[in-house]
Amino acid sequence: MNQLRKLLSTINGQSYGAYRKIAGAYQFDDYQLEVVRVQGDPFAGPSLMRLNFSLASFGYSSALYSNKAKIVGLENAIHHLAAEGLKGGARRGSGKSGLIELQRCGQQMFRRSAVEIKGGQLFLTFFVGLPAAGRRVLGKEAIMMFFEDLPSWVSSLRVNQQNTKRIDAFVNTNQRAEKVRDLLREKQWLAFIANGSILARKSGVDDRPMLNAVPFSSPKSMEETIDVDGEKITGMAIPKGITVITGGGFHGKSTLLNALEMGVYNHIPNDGRTLCITDEDAVKVRAEDGRYVDAVDISPFINNLPHRKDTQSFSTENASGSTSQATNIIEAIGCGAKCLLIDEDTSASNFMIRDQQVQQLISTAKEPITAYIERIQELRTKGVSTILVIGGIGDYFGVADHVLMLDEYEVREVTQRAREIAGPREYQQAGVFSMDLKPFNWSLAAKHFGDRSKMSVRGRDELSVNRDAIDLRALEQLVEAEQAMMAGKLIGLQSKKALFGQGSLAEMAERVKEQLKNADFSDLFGIHGGLSYVRKYEWVAILKRWNVSVPTPPKGGKRHGRRY
Ligand code: ADP
Ligand code: MG
Repeated sequence: MNQLRKLLSTINGQSYGAYRKIAGAYQFDDYQLEVVRVQGDPFAGPSLMRLNFSLASFGYSSALYSNKAKIVGLENAIHHLAAEGLKGGARRGSGKSGLIELQRCGQQMFRRSAVEIKGGQLFLTFFVGLPAAGRRVLGKEAIMMFFEDLPSWVSSLRVNQQNTKRIDAFVNTNQRAEKVRDLLREKQWLAFIANGSILARKSGVDDRPMLNAVPFSSPKSMEETIDVDGEKITGMAIPKGITVITGGGFHGKSTLLNALEMGVYNHIPNDGRTLCITDEDAVKVRAEDGRYVDAVDISPFINNLPHRKDTQSFSTENASGSTSQATNIIEAIGCGAKCLLIDEDTSASNFMIRDQQVQQLISTAKEPITAYIERIQELRTKGVSTILVIGGIGDYFGVADHVLMLDEYEVREVTQRAREIAGPREYQQAGVFSMDLKPFNWSLAAKHFGDRSKMSVRGRDELSVNRDAIDLRALEQLVEAEQAMMAGKLIGLQSKKALFGQGSLAEMAERVKEQLKNADFSDLFGIHGGLSYVRKYEWVAILKRWNVSVPTPPKGGKRHGRRY
């Protein structure tokens, strides 16, 4: 500690590179600070630092981190405390001088590399702009950072009277969500939404709960009461099978589906969705015009393309709505999806249905598409359920086990009436589904990861490996850019080191899932300040949108291919 102070006064006024000397670990009163990586100049990316302290000495009782679910809850609690403790931080000098930056944390409660609990210790990884005037070291300012700003920030992480209830709430909320997940598996439900949940969000860009929203309330016919550690929780249970959500435009259909999409993650206290839990193998699929596709067997849905284009190993750089939606479904199932979430609004209409008039005009032999409705029952018998939002295609009423209707944000069950209207439907069970994914070309991928390879994200919409841009916009269950970064890291580890072994993509994805669940992120990735948990589905989805067959394209270059 004194050594750091001395060093900083010695290098005061020297050229910025002198900061390199402070790399290393320093003991403060009851925490340790490690300067991991020092930036080369004041305008480069900030320096990487990590501090750690013993949870017990900061007032955390061991009951708060006695199992995995609680640990994740506590990590999130401390992350939020740390983020709030940074508000209005001081600037000290030019550029980013004096700024402390911490990985973002939002409404979802999952593991992030910035905060890690390991053996009773808390590790906090963050970024610091070391103070400069022009390109010179501002030693005095740096001393204030290390000996005033940082210690006062660290203090905000001690348990005190103001924050103790909140910390408990995070831990209990996560633990309770995990218990509901266990019950879901036990009872073979796809999802559970507690009465009183707030599903609507503030806005499309603000993921916090809407104020004054109509709280969720289950229709009586679907209501179940579960017991979580003696607490009785009542809500709607969605069983396996086919569930249609219908209702007039603007009555809250998509809001309900979005809540189910996000239910694969746990949520922070007061989010409104803490007891809205969905099977983690539920995958949202949609049409994705222009998607890159590499060797996927979409023949269960698409056949006889013009020019005899192969659909058992379908590839294109520019898929159409229907071929992209078929691809997304096959990939999700191939990777283990047990439930598909579909919104008519974001589907290709010719993929969802072929109505009578179209059937009369265009003979089946000439139509390449087998509509989803003709496969939905077959998928169910193979253990893949569907929950879908339908505004305009009543034919789906005939295949649904449950039809829910939204009426001014209230859910009603209308299965009986909907069946009467549609009449029962049985579609031929063709039984030709092959659900295996083709192997991925890892050796080609490895060529993209040289010593100087660079990975970057643009928001949560794009991941770049060198200059190969991977479009992530259609991955609606990907919430944070840091999840995309994590996926990129995992792809790199597999390409370079085969960390997840050999075998099929599905097997590899399963190992990725196990590792992310069990291993400490710092053991897998080293010290890193910006990685978030990602599901195996998003991992594979990102991988499969990356065209490894072409060397990095020239700057700004975009390749065009034939459209199907
Ligand atoms: P749909 O998909 O049926 O057209 P949306 O789910 O998009 O409808 O919802 C329409 C609007 O109503 C959105 O602005 C949404 O935020 C709002 N909304 C949805 N559910 C509720 C609710 N329970 N309380 C208040 N507003 C809601
Ligand atoms: Mg909608």
